[in-house]
Amino acid sequence: MLASNASSGLSFASADPGSPWRMYLEQIDRVLPHLGRLAAAVETLRRPKRVMIVDVPIETDDGRMVHFEGYRVQHNLSRGPGKGGLRYHPDVGLDEVMALAAWMTIKNAANNLPFGGAKGGVRVDPRALSVKELERLTRRYTSEINMIIGPDKDIAAPDVNTNEQIMAWIMDTYSMNVGHTATGVVTGKPLALGGSMGRNRATGQGVFFIAREAGRRLKIPIKGARVAVQGFGNVGRPAAELFAAHGAKVIAVQDAWGTLYAERGLDIPALIQVADEPGGVAASGLGERIDTEAFWDLPTDYLVPAAMESQITEQRAARIQTRAVIEGANGPTTPAADDVLGDKGITVVPDVMANAGGVTVSYFEWVQDFSSYYWSEDEVNRRLEEIMVDAFARVWDIAADRKLPLRTAAYIVACERVLDARRIRGLYP
Ligand code: NAD
Repeated sequence: MLASNASSGLSFASADPGSPWRMYLEQIDRVLPHLGRLAAAVETLRRPKRVMIVDVPIETDDGRMVHFEGYRVQHNLSRGPGKGGLRYHPDVGLDEVMALAAWMTIKNAANNLPFGGAKGGVRVDPRALSVKELERLTRRYTSEINMIIGPDKDIAAPDVNTNEQIMAWIMDTYSMNVGHTATGVVTGKPLALGGSMGRNRATGQGVFFIAREAGRRLKIPIKGARVAVQGFGNVGRPAAELFAAHGAKVIAVQDAWGTLYAERGLDIPALIQVADEPGGVAASGLGERIDTEAFWDLPTDYLVPAAMESQITEQRAARIQTRAVIEGANGPTTPAADDVLGDKGITVVPDVMANAGGVTVSYFEWVQDFSSYYWSEDEVNRRLEEIMVDAFARVWDIAADRKLPLRTAAYIVACERVLDARRIRGLYP
């Protein structure tokens, strides 16, 4: 007889208390007292359902064979097929991909999308590869994980350093392997291959919708607000652009190369034109280059971390002077930093609500692929707004009623949905 269902830990998880997976586990610990009888089944959320580690060998353009490490993690599939992006980064590792997959479980459930949570990664610096090498890497990685992905199994999408061309290669490779064109195996595809209108900008668009909703409740008008954005990629660019277009002053933008500042507000459309030049935003000459750490001292109304995880540490949280943190990135705030910001009266709108625009339009893309009937951009954005605004209102009300942080409220909604689905399905065999 089994003595207990208590967590015995995972032999392959990092022991580092600051690791993304540990951050996720701590977030689960925080929601546990609010789950009632469902708390007894929480162990299912504390371990990924399936972890795949693959060797990805490729031939370089000069004829050498080099190897990369790849991952696909399916954290939970109780509510539907796995869904989550693919990251190419030299530092990506299993622990990080496990956390990102788990956050997808929570995000999909919190927004009531009919998906489980998954994520992939390849430990590579894609800038060091030629286009042909990048294609070979992507196709070999796809072939290695082919048996666990598919439109009704697990659907990838772009994340850090991956884009619609990479999604097209995945779609083609999977289709070749299964013998028919399967557009629904990835989202974030080019329009010509069954992509959705509005997908490219969807995450940033959603960040803006949620900032606006939070701002209404917190009485922080967008017009005239001071905004700082960390990360000027897929998520950060459209978010910054929308803030500026609605009358906010985006006073600082930071990317991996440096930080650009302008007290009067940066010209975001102009910055987007030159942001991919060598040296990034700080080399653009469109504002004053300031020290990277000084970014966290700037007084703002909205702070939008849209780069990587663990950027808002306890130490930075102590210095941050803002009214609302709108998490565009996944896992940008450590649990200790959450506490510091909460004590300072700063509202943190968690990633699982604020950046759900991308996966929501990915859901629309998947639905459109199944029906082979495509919607206009207006229709996509209207439905996106409806889903995100409704999900946010529900979470906001729970947080207000029970006097909880928004993250805990979002986790209550998500964990209840996942654990209830698990309970109704029962345990096989
Ligand atoms: P991206 O690669 O397009 O852009 C990342 C940006 O962050 C770049 O400007 C890069 O220079 C900057 N950056 C990287 N490291 C940094 C550092 N240490 N300091 C400052 N800036 C740094 O990636 P993205 O798709 O915009 O993703 C950003 C975040 O948003 C990630 O956490 C990702 O998981 C999350 N996210 C992305 C999507 C999406 O649809 N792309 C959806 C949901 C969440």
